[in-house]
Amino acid sequence: MNIERVTGLIRELMIEIGEDPEREGLLKTPERVAKAWEFLSHGYRTTTKEVVNDAIFESEANNMIIARDIEVYSMCEHHMLPFYGRCHIGYIARDKVIGVSKLARIVDCFARRLQIQERLTSQIAHEVKDIVNAEGVGVVMECRHLCMMMRGVEKQNSVMTTSSVLGSFHDEAATREEFLHLIGRKLDV
Ligand code: ZN
Repeated sequence: MNIERVTGLIRELMIEIGEDPEREGLLKTPERVAKAWEFLSHGYRTTTKEVVNDAIFESEANNMIIARDIEVYSMCEHHMLPFYGRCHIGYIARDKVIGVSKLARIVDCFARRLQIQERLTSQIAHEVKDIVNAEGVGVVMECRHLCMMMRGVEKQNSVMTTSSVLGSFHDEAATREEFLHLIGRKLDV
């Protein structure tokens, strides 16, 4: 990302919304915003291969593995405003497992882009399934969207829940139930 160019664009934006980018409090703002956006969009410049970095381990266990309450921060693609919340991931390993911190990095890799929550949820599920060669994967995400909370009065406190279930989590009701029970949720998925 070209920080200098984005700094100029933010400066233009400030003028258009009625601000004076020369006033003291704002002098360094365009560059700060540009650097913030570089961070918030780093998923475009990161691959899951890099973040996982071979931290996949052989395992004989084929029970369900759950990572609950992984923090999610993303930017909605319709308004470029934040949505944030938590994500719960479950999978049944065949022969490989992955560390919880790496699951969080996979989430970040897709969250640090312009997103819609449904696609983000599905991308995480497919990626986890591919990376660990899982028999099944379930991802549930609960987020608040600032574009809803700040712009209207109708959905101020609403939490949007999305889910993606693949493999045995999709095909077997009992597996899905176990996952939802372990993450403490009831859903129609
Ligand atoms: Zn939005």
